[in-house]
Amino acid sequence: MSEVTAGILTEQASRLSVLEERFSRLERASARNAVRLRAVEEGARTDRKTLETLRAAVETLTGAKQRKKGYEITPTLRWWATGGQDALTDEERAAGVLRLRDWVERVYKPVYGSLGKLGDCWPEHKLCVITLDWLCELWHVLYETPERDARTLTQMADFGTRIVPAAAALLARQTSGGCHMTEAGR
Ligand SMILES: [Zn+2]
Repeated sequence: MSEVTAGILTEQASRLSVLEERFSRLERASARNAVRLRAVEEGARTDRKTLETLRAAVETLTGAKQRKKGYEITPTLRWWATGGQDALTDEERAAGVLRLRDWVERVYKPVYGSLGKLGDCWPEHKLCVITLDWLCELWHVLYETPERDARTLTQMADFGTRIVPAAAALLARQTSGGCHMTEAGR
């Protein structure tokens, strides 16, 4: 072997050794990256699981809140308006009376009827309709909201012993014999 050839071989061997070292470093780096990638994937799975748990918790809380919220008060009807653009349309008035009549027959008469007779002409009396409107809504708020506390109980007591008897007396007075269809009674 000539000296030149030997020199070339030694140089090639040295380059090969450098390349092997580089390749080995790349392999180690690649292995480390694979480990990191697995950790990232694992992290993503955990994050997704956490997100699902949080979403379920939010849905549970929102549902519970909606249930707790209970009865939603019916929007105000302008029963008192006598004319113009504020006045109820015939359809609005009929629907409002129908809603009140349902409560009157289902709840008011059977439960509170003995406090004072409510004449059948009550829809003809503005004061009766307005009174039954808030009485009915208040009853729903108090009795159709599942959860109650000491404050609700106090309100129920006030409703039963003060508010309903006073309203019942007013309703009975308004609709007692021959009252209806006179200007004073309307
Ligand atoms: Zn009447």
